[in-house]
Amino acid sequence: MLLQTSGPSRTRIFSLLHQCRLASSKPRFDYDLVVLGGGSAGLACAKEAVDCGARVLCFDYVKPTPVGTKWGLGGTCVNVGCIPKKLMHQASLLGEAVHEAVAYGWNVNDKNIRPDWCKLVRSVQNHIKSVNWVTRVDLRDKKVEYVNSMGAFVDGHTIEYVPKSGQAKSRVTAKNVVVAVGGRPRYPSIPGATEFGITSDDIFSYDREPGRTLVVGAGYVGLECACFLKGLGYDPTVMVRSIVLRGFDRQMSELLAAMMSERGISFLETTIPSSVERQSDGRLLVRFRNTTTQTDGSDVFDTVLWAIGRRGLIEDLNLEAAGVKTQNDKIVVDRSEATNVPHIFAVGDIVYGRPELTPVAILAGRLLARRLFAGSTQLMDYADVATTVFTPLEYACVGMSEETAIEKHGADNIEVFHGYYKPTEFFIPQKSVRFCYLKAVAEIAGDQKILGLHYMGPVAGEVIQGFAAALKSGLTVKTLLNTVGIHPTTAEEFTRLSITKRSGRDPTPASCCS
Ligand code: FAD
Ligand code: NDP
Repeated sequence: MLLQTSGPSRTRIFSLLHQCRLASSKPRFDYDLVVLGGGSAGLACAKEAVDCGARVLCFDYVKPTPVGTKWGLGGTCVNVGCIPKKLMHQASLLGEAVHEAVAYGWNVNDKNIRPDWCKLVRSVQNHIKSVNWVTRVDLRDKKVEYVNSMGAFVDGHTIEYVPKSGQAKSRVTAKNVVVAVGGRPRYPSIPGATEFGITSDDIFSYDREPGRTLVVGAGYVGLECACFLKGLGYDPTVMVRSIVLRGFDRQMSELLAAMMSERGISFLETTIPSSVERQSDGRLLVRFRNTTTQTDGSDVFDTVLWAIGRRGLIEDLNLEAAGVKTQNDKIVVDRSEATNVPHIFAVGDIVYGRPELTPVAILAGRLLARRLFAGSTQLMDYADVATTVFTPLEYACVGMSEETAIEKHGADNIEVFHGYYKPTEFFIPQKSVRFCYLKAVAEIAGDQKILGLHYMGPVAGEVIQGFAAALKSGLTVKTLLNTVGIHPTTAEEFTRLSITKRSGRDPTPASCCS
């Protein structure tokens, strides 16, 4: 009867049963679970597993970048990803806000306001160190054993590592292994790439001003880095191999690129780098080729930042010893995150074909631990994951792009509601509203179930997060338009969407309050 209970209480009962079983039997393995990788996915999984009564050991080790950058416990997000990126984004937005403040009547005397790059880097790094420390304390409090070493398979149940003290190699055995080793930035195979270029692993602790920067790559990382550098007063150029933000809604991606151009960010379209050399004055000469015109060119930069995607860190795992299947440099798993070896699992960025996002990694890790040690059957739902590109006008979306909706449902079965809008706070400083735009992609029939929401404007992530929950709950256009907005906000624009693309009507608003 007890086992028929559902929800958290059922999970708790399983957890208690599991703890009793663990206490009463002599363990065959040193640990119930070894986690390889102490980033978002690995830590979430390890902590949840301990909460469910498992004996857990977590390995985490960071190899320095080619220019020697290293960091502490917590993985990409905390050290060289979301967190320092958001802080630099905020720093760049504040630069803009200072100028807006003048229009609002603030007396800002120094007309030549410049950020202090080294001070900013110091502040960002101090914050990261405090998070590293809290993360370590949290593991200790939760009784997750932590080893700051690289782990590798000897066989399916045995992990070998070199203790930090430089002693001989040690081994531990585990009933289950979770691989959560994440990824690292790629470097192009061209002369000078690793000698003279840096990546997102280096920029947040870069000890000198980046100056004129070539950002190679037009995905999330490239665009976000170019934007915060521009906002901080540097001069970035983005080199685009094919299109910006591949995989995102095309109209929104092109709008975003146009917004960046309006702010003075240069783009080298359909261009790939050929080489990087250091000149006698210390600056970097980059040669490149335009693949449309088939012409070669070159330019000189102070910094070259590779943002050409990330590779999974499988090379040091000795996965062959465990017989784990891989594809490209990622691990192949099924819906329960199990690899082809049933007691070996993978979560987070290392998994083939999954979104590389922190909340995805965390929830997948947590749910896996509950399934392993608390009798849960809940699988991770990878559908309709909301995301944001942190550019000065941010772009956030959830659900399908217009192209995907048309491909899946047919153009005749889709209605797209859209509109430009004018944020009230933009009027006094006379900020450009050209790119404040949003759209809802919906089914045309019935109550018009919403398939995708797209928003470009201030604090897009904050705006879309709540709508993401609504979309997962089956939001329709009818419900959206029956929702009373909060005035004056930009999020309320979703409740005022009345113009369809099909109608051909002008989506530009006449005033803020009509
Ligand atoms: P990681 O966080 O990379 O952790 C893996 C850990 O395992 C690392 O510490 C690694 O060194 C260690 N390791 C590797 N091999 C071994 C081994 N053999 N033994 C022991 N340890 C090992 N996501 C968002 O949701 N929002 C954002 O705004 C965002 N911004 C980003 C900005 C940048 C610049 C980047 C690069 C990424 C950003 N991401 C963002 C993505 C996010 O950081 C990742 O999706 C997330 O960190 C993945 O977590 P993970 O646990 O899978 O891997
Ligand atoms: P992406 O794969 O998103 O983008 C890589 C970019 O580099 C593409 O524009 C690609 O062009 C280009 N490229 C690839 N190879 C080359 C090459 N050899 N020469 C020139 N250009 C090349 O990777 P990112 O590193 O930007 O981001 C990785 C992941 O990290 C993202 O998918 C995202 O999940 C996560 N992330 C999330 C963020 C957020 O949530 N805000 C922020 C940053 C990262 P092409 O289109 O032609 O292949």
